[in-house]
Amino acid sequence: MAFIELKHVYKVYKNGVTALADVNLSINRGEFVFIIGSSGSGKSTLTKVLYREEKVTKGTVMVGGVNVSKLRNGNVYKLRRKVGVVFQDFRLLPKLTVYENIAYPLESYGMEAKEIRKRVLAAVEWVGLKDKLRSYPDELSGGQQQRVCIARAIVNKPKLIICDEPTGDLDPKMSREIMDVLENINKELGSTIIMATHDKEIVNRMKRRVIYMRDGVLVSDKEKGEYIEDEDN
Ligand code: ADP
Repeated sequence: MAFIELKHVYKVYKNGVTALADVNLSINRGEFVFIIGSSGSGKSTLTKVLYREEKVTKGTVMVGGVNVSKLRNGNVYKLRRKVGVVFQDFRLLPKLTVYENIAYPLESYGMEAKEIRKRVLAAVEWVGLKDKLRSYPDELSGGQQQRVCIARAIVNKPKLIICDEPTGDLDPKMSREIMDVLENINKELGSTIIMATHDKEIVNRMKRRVIYMRDGVLVSDKEKGEYIEDEDN
């Protein structure tokens, strides 16, 4: 079985909107996959059902052998520990330093301080922010803040990293730096990376697998794909 498998997945929100309609998808360990499509096409929902931020209405979602669609609420934390998530709007805690922001998830598991320190230092090494450990988020550029988020996402050594428009608020140069970091993590750590994006330049430059969503339907899935412009844009 593939690392990630979606079978006949539907998501209908309470307001009646169908955000995913019969999505079938399998992703192998170590892949780097882009999810593209216009705003409202279901990209974000697709990422959310993978880490159980949203529950599917129908169908099966398997992640690393875990049936996410059947997971009890009380066990969702076990899944979350195996998945790192990076958001467009960073979601860093403003009153905590870079070090504390990255250490926070590990502290909440009750990990030993010495082990936490080791992991945080390794994570900042990956994103190239060793000299910013004592800074606060508002003292950093957008690109640097996003690198802190990536460090926070990888500190737990997750097999899966999900990124929802991680470069959405960044200029092209910072976006490239973020993509270099993610590509390096994918190559060197072997993490599977799934990234929802609007960024045509990035998708076309990286030549990875591209999944194209339209109105909740997975309409195209190509190895070494390119960005697809929406007809209505
Ligand atoms: P994208 O990430 O491609 O912009 P989304 O997955 O965010 O798309 O949204 C897909 C559809 O589901 C849209 O029509 C959106 O308005 C709707 N939607 C998303 N989240 C919710 C929610 N929590 N409640 C109701 N409708 C939602």
